[in-house]
Amino acid sequence: MEIKRVTLYHVVMRLKSPFETSYGKTVDRHCLLVKVEERSGEVGWGESPVDEGPWYSYETISTAMHVLRDYVVPWLLEKRFVEGPGGFLRLSQRARGHRMAKAGVEMALWDLRAKLEGKPLYRLIGGTKNRVDCGISIGIIGDEQRLLKAVAEFLSRGYKRIKIKVKPGWDTRPVELIRREYGEIPLQVDANAAYSLETSRPLRELDKHNLLMIEQPLDYDDLHDHAVLQSRLKTPVCLDESIKSLHDAKTALRLGSCRVINIKPARVGGLIETRLIHDYAQEMGVPVWIGGMLETGIGRAFLVAAATLENVRYPSDIGESSRYWEEDVVEPPWTLEGNGTMRVPERSGIGVDVLEERIERSTRAKILLG
Ligand code: MG
Repeated sequence: MEIKRVTLYHVVMRLKSPFETSYGKTVDRHCLLVKVEERSGEVGWGESPVDEGPWYSYETISTAMHVLRDYVVPWLLEKRFVEGPGGFLRLSQRARGHRMAKAGVEMALWDLRAKLEGKPLYRLIGGTKNRVDCGISIGIIGDEQRLLKAVAEFLSRGYKRIKIKVKPGWDTRPVELIRREYGEIPLQVDANAAYSLETSRPLRELDKHNLLMIEQPLDYDDLHDHAVLQSRLKTPVCLDESIKSLHDAKTALRLGSCRVINIKPARVGGLIETRLIHDYAQEMGVPVWIGGMLETGIGRAFLVAAATLENVRYPSDIGESSRYWEEDVVEPPWTLEGNGTMRVPERSGIGVDVLEERIERSTRAKILLG
């Protein structure tokens, strides 16, 4: 592939309703969209779902723009010819970390390669399913009746499991309420690193509620304390923030820090690392699923493709476009089929049309390189 030009878009889109986690509330979603153009005129799209501030990750919209504009993209353009996403990853290794920034370009190159080969993205990465199971993630809703109403709505939409965000002071009570009202539905919680071993008593309480898993209960960087906690819980611990690479996944499974892994393709640097973690977990008999980051319809396409991998054994955090946006930036928008699944596009590339004029309308800054 001969890369001619790369365009970076800092996009800001208002969520239909604010999304709250243990680290704060998101009203406007910032992200970085990446368009790569090939000499032939074919284009590929990718997304770095970085936040405005360093909450979920140290990476922000500003750091991602900086690393891509000043280093990684110039390296790519200087080389011009890359054999694909793998070649890009090798040349981008000169810059340490910044996996979410690099993932935006890596994914755009996957889309481009799939289009050039005339294949759907999921097949190119070795996916085996033509439908993926979808779960929903519900932010912290301090009001009990509103929470129960939200759960009822998503169950009626067909989502195959409910996940709620928890934090100290909002953990056992919402789970008890949901269990009382809706019985043994597939249910899990996500703490986004809000507890420590010292404050983990509510997690031991949650152990009684037959949850599918407890996601990232302890520090975002920790593997050791999670192993201690997992040894005390019968509920599987699932790691999200702590797993940024295959190396982290190997260490976590050797230590016994978790029994499930949530792979977010952007968090680990793209689809190549996603595959490596997926394959290793499969070898070790550990199930994975695909997590979301409030992506636009572009980033969502990569979640859908990743969720077609064989060892994705739980429903993934892949909501419909209409759950997040009044208007998504792709056509058709992502929708659920009645049974809580999403159909995987068979068209080449990411399988949806990118609506550039909608992107332009939400663009706060645009950088053309090349
Ligand atoms: Mg999570």
